[in-house]
Amino acid sequence: MKNCAIVGINWGDEGKGRMVDLLTQDFDIVVRYQGGGNAGHTVINEKGRFALHLLPSGIFREGVVNILGNGVALDPENLWTEIGDVSAKGVPVTPENLKISERASLLLPWHRDLDALEEQRLADRKYGSTKQGIAPFYSDKYQKKTVLAGELNRPEALRRHLAELLEWKNLTLTKVYGAKPYTMEDLEKWLSESCERIRPYLCDTGEVLRAAQAAGKKILFEAQLGALRDLDYGIYPYTTSSNTVAAYAPIGAGLPSLKIGTVVGVVKAYSTCVGEGPFVCELFGEEAHALREAGSEYGAKTGRPRRVGPIDLVATRYGVEVQGATAVALTKLDVLSTMDRIPVCVRYELDGEETDRFPFPADLDRARPVIRYTDGWRCDISAVRKWEDLPREARNYVRLIEKAIRAPITYISVGPERESIIIRKNHRL
Ligand code: GDP
Repeated sequence: MKNCAIVGINWGDEGKGRMVDLLTQDFDIVVRYQGGGNAGHTVINEKGRFALHLLPSGIFREGVVNILGNGVALDPENLWTEIGDVSAKGVPVTPENLKISERASLLLPWHRDLDALEEQRLADRKYGSTKQGIAPFYSDKYQKKTVLAGELNRPEALRRHLAELLEWKNLTLTKVYGAKPYTMEDLEKWLSESCERIRPYLCDTGEVLRAAQAAGKKILFEAQLGALRDLDYGIYPYTTSSNTVAAYAPIGAGLPSLKIGTVVGVVKAYSTCVGEGPFVCELFGEEAHALREAGSEYGAKTGRPRRVGPIDLVATRYGVEVQGATAVALTKLDVLSTMDRIPVCVRYELDGEETDRFPFPADLDRARPVIRYTDGWRCDISAVRKWEDLPREARNYVRLIEKAIRAPITYISVGPERESIIIRKNHRL
């Protein structure tokens, strides 16, 4: 594996952080290529339990260089808090092991306000935003109405640029939402308190990556959220505002000419979804509560209870296709160990007909899950490390999934710890 992307196949929270943490041992560089601090990876290792939002998961490994690429939503305030949290637990974060692209756009202080103001305006029609300013940030980035991180090193031009943006953005804040305008003093405070601290980490990360590539170093690309939240391929408008798919990784990372060899798609052994939007296989009531508790399904960033359901083979097959996954990591199989029989969403019913095809976003609300049951194994599998040692029913469950999604399940995670993994070397479909 020379270059590899680790991506989510479903709605996010599949356990990507845990897989990146495991696989970083084989890589020299870990790059985050999209998204911001609006979702969280949970990583548990010998140093403790960490909720990472923007920092790449390779930050825990000595010798690994971590990069925040040009495609991320760079929020200096949140990033600095996160660096502080991680450092406080004994993980050094220095300009040697963290490099931030000078081409990354900055999430400005008003982006968070605009996110909250718009959700408030929408009231019961809201998108379920985490209010971290991600949607206003990306719309401004594509309108060319934010600043590049590298401008922090050009103070005079930066001030002129910020003054222009301020004038423009205050029109929206005051006239559209009736909110308080920002002042240049507010921005000066933000510059000195947050931006100044991240300045030492800025560099031309494209150059770092090209040099690494030329030296034969191995690069890992880390995504946030899953395929179904991709702006172009997901359940629009209940998507995030960036491209989560592996195909975007070279662009958002800073190596646009790269072809990625291996794409590891992370799938959870059951489904979860945070926030609003269609979730065809959703379970409710007691059954949902039991699964949520068994899997501790509460948002890493917000603490919100996640919506839960059985594995959705229709959505997962689609996710595998759009990600171009060459291998799949199935996580949290241990969570299903208490179930007598395990529900599986094998198809959808749409307008009276059964279908294997993932519907157009606007049709998802009318789709109903077709559920079949498979036998549970009803024993603790968290200490299993070899495929042959899994109970027959668990192996059948894995086989059923890989056959349906048409991708080999190479990794099976049976616990949150780094070593709680079954690796099927040379496994092909
Ligand atoms: P990510 O954003 O895709 O990294 O996912 P999250 O961090 O939100 O969710 C994964 C959660 O499941 C974290 O709390 C992990 O520690 C935990 N986890 C990951 N893999 C496993 C597993 O195989 N079994 C169990 N029980 N927990 C797991």
